Amino acid sequence: MLDLTFETPKPKVIQGAKSDWELVIGLEVHAQVSSNAKLFSGASTAFGAEPNSNVAFVDAAMPGMLPVINEFCVAQAVRTGLGLKAAINLVSAFDRKNYFYPDLPQGYQISQLYHPIVGEGEVIVEMGPGVARRVRIERIHLEQDAGKSIHDMDPNMSFVDLNRTGVALMEIVSRPDIRGPEEAASYVAKLRQIMQYLGTCDGNMQNGNLRADVNVSVCRPGDYERYQETGDHSVLGTRCEIKNMNSMRFIQAAIDYEARRQIGILEDGGSVTQETRLYDPDKGETRPMRSKEEAHDYRYFPDPDLLPLEIEQAWVDEIAASLPELPDQKKARFMEDFGLTDYDASVLTAETEAAAYFEAVAEGRDGKAAANWVINELFGRLKKEDHSIAETPVTPAQLGAILDLIAKGDISGKIAKDLFEIVYTDGGDPAEIVAARGMKQVTDTGAIEAAVDEIIAANPAQVEKAKVNPKLAGWFVGQVMKATGGKANPKAVNEIVAAKLGH
Ligand code: ADP
Ligand code: MG
Repeated sequence: MLDLTFETPKPKVIQGAKSDWELVIGLEVHAQVSSNAKLFSGASTAFGAEPNSNVAFVDAAMPGMLPVINEFCVAQAVRTGLGLKAAINLVSAFDRKNYFYPDLPQGYQISQLYHPIVGEGEVIVEMGPGVARRVRIERIHLEQDAGKSIHDMDPNMSFVDLNRTGVALMEIVSRPDIRGPEEAASYVAKLRQIMQYLGTCDGNMQNGNLRADVNVSVCRPGDYERYQETGDHSVLGTRCEIKNMNSMRFIQAAIDYEARRQIGILEDGGSVTQETRLYDPDKGETRPMRSKEEAHDYRYFPDPDLLPLEIEQAWVDEIAASLPELPDQKKARFMEDFGLTDYDASVLTAETEAAAYFEAVAEGRDGKAAANWVINELFGRLKKEDHSIAETPVTPAQLGAILDLIAKGDISGKIAKDLFEIVYTDGGDPAEIVAARGMKQVTDTGAIEAAVDEIIAANPAQVEKAKVNPKLAGWFVGQVMKATGGKANPKAVNEIVAAKLGH
């Protein structure tokens, strides 16, 4: 089991002109549900389709069309909730959030304000070995996404693409438990990793399938602890919300800028106005978008076209029973079963494909050696060509076979790297390649001795020096390795050289 005794990371402290300030951050993450069909229609969600080709009548808000809830999207939200150890609400309901969205023809968004499908949960965000923050999740609700307005195709007209209109989103709302820009990025990364494991959101930030509204405030040291003790929000500073961030780098830069901006205002004796802001990546600054709206401004009311959503505990239990092993568990198991370091286990569990690859190689072999080869050789080589693990030309069976040849003493580590390169570029069975190309390590001490004798006979002056200075033995070892094309067993060479030099 995962050891949950971890140290809490220090909050980021920014030194203002007058005093120290701490950051308080809460995130509202919008995650597109992985589903072939939309939340309330059967239209496809395929990315990159011809504009307006994936639009059902209900998505276009044709008169008389009614929404029909997609059971699979509900299951995905439940699955996500369970993955975040959250309470699942057996009764939830949909509300209309009234707002003019030019790319949502209904004129309102169907969301869940009053009764979300998922309640309180948590995400463990690791900031280093044994250092982690427990970020509380307040709720997850299901809602519709809007379409896309396109303003840069024509000087006089705007276009609208409704393909995304009505696609299911999960809005995952955290408590203000995040204490720095790096933590915020790590939190988003961890959420994304968990959802990728669960198969509930592909986490593709470039396509906008995962984006975050980032709430930032600053407070004096000690204030946050007071908030934790009392649960009283008012001891925290006034926050601003930075909308729609879809890059880890920009999330960090925006938080940093925003915190400094607020500190500047406060130290000048002013007060922060609660508002929604946008981050401009070119200028590296946030600027006001609109003043903060309240829930009542949206005239929320229960959607009369949809009955309250009732699900059964047995169905939830079924989903719970089918959950895959999640990142924290997998990492802990890799450390325990394969003796991996915290770092190696983190790298190898970052993606499910990489984890599965590693396990296939490590099963029945030396786990640490397998981790070294997968991380340093395979990942390193793939990275050179900008390939993902899914594109690896070396199968786990092939890499495993290379490790077996090393373990048996058939090849040295150095030769193994050459062999890996051959398998990577040409394919083939590693053992057969070794046999066919004469790459086998020479362990025959007679042959090694002969090679050592030859080097010694050819270099009498070096021998005299090495006899008094044992450090010079390394030169002889190097010469023997060179003479044998790197195939001599290094351990045997070392021993024989030492003996011949009288060490
Ligand atoms: P609202 O009801 O105005 O939407 P919420 O209480 O739902 O506000 O909070 C919205 C988001 O803002 C949550 O992610 C929450 O963690 C975050 N948040 C609340 N207070 C603060 C604060 N003082 N500083 C930073 N983030 C905050
Ligand atoms: Mg809110």
